[in-house]
Amino acid sequence: MGKPTGFLEFQRKVGSNESIVERVKNFNEFHKLLSKEEQTNQGARCMDCGVPFCQSGIIINGMVSGCPLNNLIPEFNDLLYKGNLILALDRLLKTNPFPEFTGRVCPAPCESACTVSINCPAVTIKENERFIIDFAFENQYIKPNPPKNRKSKNIAVIGSGPAGLSCSYYLNQYGYNVDVFEREDKIGGLLTYGIPNMKLDKAIVDRRINILKEEGISFFTNSDVCINENLKAKIFTDYDAIVLATGATKPRDLNVSGRESKGIYFAVDYLKENTRRVLNKCTSKDYISCKDKRVLIIGGGDTGTDCLATSIRQGCKSLLQIEITNPLPEDRLENNPWPEWKKTFKIDYGQEEAIELFDKDPRRYCTSVKEFLYDNSNNVVGAKLIKVNWYNDDFGNLKCREIEDSEEVIDVDIVLLAMGFLGTEDYIASFFGVNLDNRNNIKASYDDFKTNKEKIFACGDARRGQSLVVWAIREGLDAAKSINEYLNLK
Ligand SMILES: Cc1cc2nc3c(=O)[nH]c(=O)nc-3n(C[C@H](O)[C@H](O)[C@H](O)COP(=O)(O)OP(=O)(O)OC[C@H]3O[C@@H](n4cnc5c(N)ncnc54)[C@H](O)[C@@H]3O)c2cc1C
Ligand code: SF4
Repeated sequence: MGKPTGFLEFQRKVGSNESIVERVKNFNEFHKLLSKEEQTNQGARCMDCGVPFCQSGIIINGMVSGCPLNNLIPEFNDLLYKGNLILALDRLLKTNPFPEFTGRVCPAPCESACTVSINCPAVTIKENERFIIDFAFENQYIKPNPPKNRKSKNIAVIGSGPAGLSCSYYLNQYGYNVDVFEREDKIGGLLTYGIPNMKLDKAIVDRRINILKEEGISFFTNSDVCINENLKAKIFTDYDAIVLATGATKPRDLNVSGRESKGIYFAVDYLKENTRRVLNKCTSKDYISCKDKRVLIIGGGDTGTDCLATSIRQGCKSLLQIEITNPLPEDRLENNPWPEWKKTFKIDYGQEEAIELFDKDPRRYCTSVKEFLYDNSNNVVGAKLIKVNWYNDDFGNLKCREIEDSEEVIDVDIVLLAMGFLGTEDYIASFFGVNLDNRNNIKASYDDFKTNKEKIFACGDARRGQSLVVWAIREGLDAAKSINEYLNLK
């Protein structure tokens, strides 16, 4: 610990955001980091507390506490404070191959577990991480580092999201020949076609892909291995191991009357086409615009927030975001103590923008849709909302029921469904013949990532269900280790 009194002397400070009025005019990243001097002071707030829960990445009460990658947080904080950014980078890259992604989009479970956060605002771990990696890129410290020796074995990685990229990175570093197959027209999975550009600029993703290419990994886009006849023929014969990093891309639907009307879209389809537009790849036929429309977003999670911020930037007329659950409490409850993941009410960037531009928080809780209304041309024109309440049944299970006479009809022009995901798409599991678990994810143990099929492994959202970028990176790393052991024994 460079400065024992750092957390007493310096208040938590994060970088600034561009003003809302300006930032909603485009899809650019809007968060600016602190100056070097200010950021090193933030590093000094770390107490190097002896038992660094921040880097533990353990599961408590079903949720992660601390960094799933076991980033060496007190060490890089100390080096940041001392101004030794090269060594700080060295420590950061020991556990995290892509800190430029996590430094931007990670919800930072490390900060919930930071010891300083027991009675002060947490150390700015995520921003410290981003500062170190952005500094390294700006000063050309990040260079391709191909393996010294090549092995003769070939590995196919299916899916190029953070799990596929992380697994490919480590397998390539071991010296294997790695081919990555991606069904979309761009590499990156949800880093590219899920998370909006203002949270993660696609140039940042492309920059990393170019390094991976220079390190020797081959990428193939528009290559759905379960459909493309050439790939179908060779995928089982030409590779010594296959990694399914295909994500958990099956969206949860809302099967109520009127669902088939026009103007109701899944969130990721909407977000994807918008990013394709930002990247000049979208034809006007596919683009879904909320301009001058009354928008209803169903789902109060992060994907819903991304839809909110995107429809604001497209120039929507009005916004409502509904969520079936209760709002989270303002402060930690007694049954959610430190160092557990902090389950408290948040105003995220999208809500912050809506509050400023529309004068109110767009969220409504304990609310669901009972029916969609449509006109003669089958366009959605309204939604019948209901209020629900939550109760424990005789067996102690949490259930919800409609509150009588709570119906309300609202006018809508477009509906975005952001209600989570239901695991692996059926055609992927059936093509590879892999078993699924009871949550519809590919069944593979966390120890060895092996599926029921010889030489086929699974990692990331495809294995654990829709999760976080940091977990996808972690699973890619661990799956690569397991594949290396498997191939060494052959
Ligand atoms: C809108 C949205 C916003 C999010 N925001 C955040 C955030 O801010 N922070 C965070 O930590 N997490 C966020 N997440 C979650 C995070 O993006 C995922 O947990 C993570 O991307 C999972 O990585 P993955 O590599 O396992 O899968 P994915 O990123 O889903 O990648 C899977 C890839 O496999 C490809 N694929 C599938 N089948 C085939 C096939 N048959 N042939 C070839 N390719 C195939 C898909 O096209 C896709 O590119 C968000 C998720 C969504 C939906
Ligand atoms: S990857 Fe996420 S959890 Fe880990 S140190 Fe960075 S911000 Fe924290």
